[in-house]
Amino acid sequence: MTGMRSQDLLSPLPAGLFCKPGNFHIDPVRPVERAVITHGHSDHARAGHGAVLATQETLDIMRLRYGENFAGATQAVRYGEEIRLGDVTVKFHPAGHVLGSAQIAVSCKDTCIVASGDYKDVRDPTCAPFEIVPCDVFITEATFGLPVFRHGDAADEVKKLLASVALFPERAHLVGAYSLGKAQRVIALIRAAGYDAPIYLHGAMEKITHYYQSQGIALGELRAVRGTKKADLAGTITLAPPTATSDVWTRRFPDPVTAFASGWMRVRARARQRGVELPLVISDHADWDGLTATIRATGAREIWVTHGQEDALVHWCQTKGLAARPLDLVGYGDEEESETLAEGEEA
Ligand SMILES: [Zn+2]
Repeated sequence: MTGMRSQDLLSPLPAGLFCKPGNFHIDPVRPVERAVITHGHSDHARAGHGAVLATQETLDIMRLRYGENFAGATQAVRYGEEIRLGDVTVKFHPAGHVLGSAQIAVSCKDTCIVASGDYKDVRDPTCAPFEIVPCDVFITEATFGLPVFRHGDAADEVKKLLASVALFPERAHLVGAYSLGKAQRVIALIRAAGYDAPIYLHGAMEKITHYYQSQGIALGELRAVRGTKKADLAGTITLAPPTATSDVWTRRFPDPVTAFASGWMRVRARARQRGVELPLVISDHADWDGLTATIRATGAREIWVTHGQEDALVHWCQTKGLAARPLDLVGYGDEEESETLAEGEEA
């Protein structure tokens, strides 16, 4: 039996990564016949595919976002379960990124490629912990693929937030956070730090956050901002999509302190540009140390680098004697940077 060349197993096409022997795409950006989807962020999980294979949580999140008819057919896959598609075997492993997020291991003959999707290797109380999957080729993201990005401990960032809340009891605190994953993680971290007062939610956060709660993730008492009097919001914490923290919506809060939870907050200029008073360096993506440690731990001899700062990571791999190349995939955004409110999501 001859080994299969890795580029014959998975190849970057305009619609996304395509597996010819299994006839499926991973996280396609255009409608395809069969899609295997890593997680629910909108640039990875799009509506309109013939069939979708994903974890139950990712399917649920897609249903919440796009409605019942988001795909022709769906199949829920559990972590660790092996699925046969054509000539290949597909296995899902936790990616530690958001609830339901998965790395996809694609095996054929004696070759295994792991498409990690977005991932982080630090503990997150709102999702299953990242798993190292030994493989021949590891496809890594590179959102924070520069040595300057070291996220530090998210718990310390939440302490900063709570210190500010204690210092300004007459002001409201508005925390910008992506509505799928980041917001719920920030809430869980606030609870872990011992804060047990109600936490307020922007309307666009409600559906996904309640879904997390329905999956048994403890987030404490949550309330809608909608219908709450301005004076009652003094001294409180509200989670909102990043875009909402800079618009007229903030006028309903007394003298708001605006915070933003993102890996990009490591860059002071970004915080200033956005008018963020309290930058919180909290990311759902691996930082430089996380990316490089993970690449080593997989034992892969070949690394494909995608969406983000590919060059520095490719160079790092090459200095370690690994074959590495950037993958030209287009259509993947960066959910940490901003978020546009979907139609029908009310403030
Ligand atoms: Zn993501």
